[in-house]
Amino acid sequence: MTTKINAYKCDVCGSAYFDEDQARECEQQHISVLEVSDVLFMQKDKESKFPSKILVNNPNHSGALAMYIKESEGSVEEYAYLYPDDEDE
Ligand SMILES: [Zn+2]
Repeated sequence: MTTKINAYKCDVCGSAYFDEDQARECEQQHISVLEVSDVLFMQKDKESKFPSKILVNNPNHSGALAMYIKESEGSVEEYAYLYPDDEDE
């Protein structure tokens, strides 16, 4: 026996909710317009072109900051898997 359920998905992070308003709230709380406010190069990455860490903010959400640490570095082709929607182009 099966039971049909209705659920809503945040199109930003993919989280599922039974309540549509919660899914909308999830989408709206994600910050996607970012501005790099600071970069940090560490000695261990002295051969690297890109910074080891970046600090980002959103000009529309004053006071909201996040720090990102570089995981890897490569070419556009090497990261194509991150953008599967662009495969046909
Ligand atoms: Zn979300």
